[in-house]
Amino acid sequence: MGEVPMLLLALLVLHLSEFVVWVRPDVGLFRRRGRGWELASRGALISTVRGSLHWVYPLPGWARAYAVPWTTGNLPAAHPEGGAGLESVFSRSEVERRRNSVEMAFRELRWLSWSLMGLVWVVAPVTLQWIGLRSMLWIVLPPLLVLMAVNAVRVFQTHRRQYPESGDERLRLVLSASLSPLAAIRSADLVHKEALEGFHPLAVAAALPGFRDWEKAAAVHWRRLNHAESERNDPGLEASSESALAKRRAWMGQIERLALERGLNPAAWDQPPSATDPSHTQYCPRCRSQFTPAAVACHDCQWPRLLPIPS
Ligand SMILES: [Zn+2]
Repeated sequence: MGEVPMLLLALLVLHLSEFVVWVRPDVGLFRRRGRGWELASRGALISTVRGSLHWVYPLPGWARAYAVPWTTGNLPAAHPEGGAGLESVFSRSEVERRRNSVEMAFRELRWLSWSLMGLVWVVAPVTLQWIGLRSMLWIVLPPLLVLMAVNAVRVFQTHRRQYPESGDERLRLVLSASLSPLAAIRSADLVHKEALEGFHPLAVAAALPGFRDWEKAAAVHWRRLNHAESERNDPGLEASSESALAKRRAWMGQIERLALERGLNPAAWDQPPSATDPSHTQYCPRCRSQFTPAAVACHDCQWPRLLPIPS
């Protein structure tokens, strides 16, 4: 293999390694798929109990992904049972507004990212092939360093305005973008990762254009709220169970509202399924797994109260 193809291959491996995202289990990662968006769930490169590694399209703009916590622990405390705070956490239009404003703020990074792509992927290999390493470095290095410096400064300034709280992430982004041209290419999309934190993932999913399988994700989450963890094996929560229940009901109400806006019928989410096998007579209302008469609890989610499948 010649020098230039070797260089390109090494570059390609390094480039692709920038376009993976580590996702904790309590966080939903929204990434581009085709013309729309999806919640990254299947097809992880690595999957462990602590999280999983997902890939995104390896091109500026297409690599954008949003990490949105499912726990929504940051629900406004002043409105535990609804009201304006909860409404905005579940507001599609506020998700859209926030997404657009972050996009506008970081817009110029796209051009920096594409210019760096052109230098690294087109100008560098072509000049290396035709005029050799020394002259290539003379041609490529000065604009590369200038673009990287401008990019790092702009990432720092705009990030500080958009996410005043997120100091560690900003330092990490700016340092890596100053040290590696490939990380600098990637920074134009990484700056969007935190943009929708604080919204509920199902509101984000409803607001992203061309999102796939909203109803599936919503029904799974709604059932988990309806048959919640604390109800079955957490007697210590007795005192707070009433407010926990009220909070869950309020969330379920918001999810149902989003479903109705999409023309879906949330009442169907709790209907008994039809048996997938003649021997199945019971199902788990929480995760929908089906069982034979011998089962006493759900094998998948340990829910203790199985319900009959009507025949
Ligand atoms: Zn189950």
